[in-house]
Amino acid sequence: MDLILTFHSLDTSGSVVSYNPDEFRQVVEGLLEEGVALVGLDEMLREEGTSGQPRALLTFDDGFSSVHEHALPLLAELGVPALLYVVTGWVGRTNRWPTQGAEAPELDLMDWSQLRELQAAGFELGSHTVEHPHLADLTEEELERELANSKRQLEDELQQGVRHFSYPYGTYKSSTTEAVRKHYGTATTTDMRWLEANDDPLLLPRVDAYYLREPRRWAPIFGARTRTYLKGRAALRNVASHLRR
Ligand SMILES: [Zn+2]
Repeated sequence: MDLILTFHSLDTSGSVVSYNPDEFRQVVEGLLEEGVALVGLDEMLREEGTSGQPRALLTFDDGFSSVHEHALPLLAELGVPALLYVVTGWVGRTNRWPTQGAEAPELDLMDWSQLRELQAAGFELGSHTVEHPHLADLTEEELERELANSKRQLEDELQQGVRHFSYPYGTYKSSTTEAVRKHYGTATTTDMRWLEANDDPLLLPRVDAYYLREPRRWAPIFGARTRTYLKGRAALRNVASHLRR
């Protein structure tokens, strides 16, 4: 049983993109106490279905400075890997990209030297585009630029190949995924469920930790009660997104 979790900022503001740093520690320690292996994405995909041990991957979208402050020391201390997706055009700035909604507070993003510290501590870094657009709205040329330029900039700055991608807002259409496939080996969505053996590596599901605030209430996260709860939340979210269209 494999699960990919999504975090954004680690701070105490209670905003839609914020997860309390103390509760983040509880999630990580709780998963380890449950006997869940915290692994990198390549390991999770390589051995899919062959290992009996439940596994989870911690991912962070956008590159907030609070991840450097809170996740870096904790995960380095525990030897736990993680994957962080960078918005390359906004490194060293804040999350005020043009498509940002009013509900998200303005928060600092890491600069390249902080990102390199994460890399040195065992984080893997992937692309979350250059400008954080809604990819399904872009022309073919604009999409190509977002995918190619973010990858090139990350590889130049980090001196390392970049294979992982995350769709901003979790939005894409089939032509988006085919364009992503030309540049990246994996991509993560906001499709809220556990991994399945036949998942396309370019359409990997993730569960947003937003739904697991107050993690002691949800322990064990891999238990039947929490899995049922998350399934219910996913169904509600699907209904809501159909109503909005
Ligand atoms: Zn994002």
